[in-house]
Amino acid sequence: MTMMIDSILYKIRSVILGHAVADALGVPVEFSSRAELDTAPVTKMEGFGTYNMPAGSWSDDTSMTLCALDSIGKGYIDHVEIMENFCRWFYTNEYTPTGKCFDIGGACMQAIEKYKAFGLPPHMCGGEGEHSCGNGSLMRILPFALFCEYGEYSGNWLDIIHLGSSLTHRHERCKVGCGIYSIIIRKLLCRPDQDSVYAGLKRASSVYEGNSELDKYKRIFEPSFADLPVDEIKSSGYVVDTLEAALWCLLTADSYKECVLKAVNLGEDTDTVAAVAGGLAGALYGLDAIPTEWLDTLIKREYIEELCEKFCAALCN
Ligand SMILES: [Mg+2]
Repeated sequence: MTMMIDSILYKIRSVILGHAVADALGVPVEFSSRAELDTAPVTKMEGFGTYNMPAGSWSDDTSMTLCALDSIGKGYIDHVEIMENFCRWFYTNEYTPTGKCFDIGGACMQAIEKYKAFGLPPHMCGGEGEHSCGNGSLMRILPFALFCEYGEYSGNWLDIIHLGSSLTHRHERCKVGCGIYSIIIRKLLCRPDQDSVYAGLKRASSVYEGNSELDKYKRIFEPSFADLPVDEIKSSGYVVDTLEAALWCLLTADSYKECVLKAVNLGEDTDTVAAVAGGLAGALYGLDAIPTEWLDTLIKREYIEELCEKFCAALCN
């Protein structure tokens, strides 16, 4: 039993730290163009740049992930508490690396403000318009996927993912993006190899068969997707671009390091594309594959590890 819990904790740490480290790698160059990064690519954990933050600073992607991880670390999902944690982050700087909330997407901010001002039910806070199809729920969905893999619940697990997305992103396209990502993450947690990515994609295409949003994601289901040249991969904050870019980096790399550096150096939404890819690469290659000097530079690594331990203990009890 202890061995099983140790193995689950290792996987949780791999995914969460894989995500956080990649986020921190991308933070200093967020919004840099691909041409700029082609000239001076990121190769290590750097500081300052876009937000003038020290090396190892993670951003909203990780902060919002920790808000959910902390709450679900009680062993069940409480949307009100997760939303309250988002408020504690946004209004009072909790769940931040240095005591400062320095990065937030428009849709997330609107959802939090709507919750605070009108007291809407949490799952009604996310925007549902076409303009609200950013990657802000995809970048923080991992604790929900981990709960579905290791926790106890009744009902359809994908409803948990879709509701989790809805807290900030209620458009069907965002829910489907989070669903596809979570299906692949769960396949990788069960069997960490590249074949599991394809098994996940196959499963996702059958789960969402008939869903009109699936068409938006059609490129990732094509057998030649990994052969697309980099010029055809966009790395914007649009949920479809981000999921495509993260998967393309995973499928065209041979290590955690190669995958997340590739993601950062695509440019534009560097931290989120890398964080989404980093969660996948953490699941595929494991914590031991993350360069030690990157983990050592990550601010408040021990705090993140403690949240992972609390989460694992609650789910495995
Ligand atoms: Mg960010």
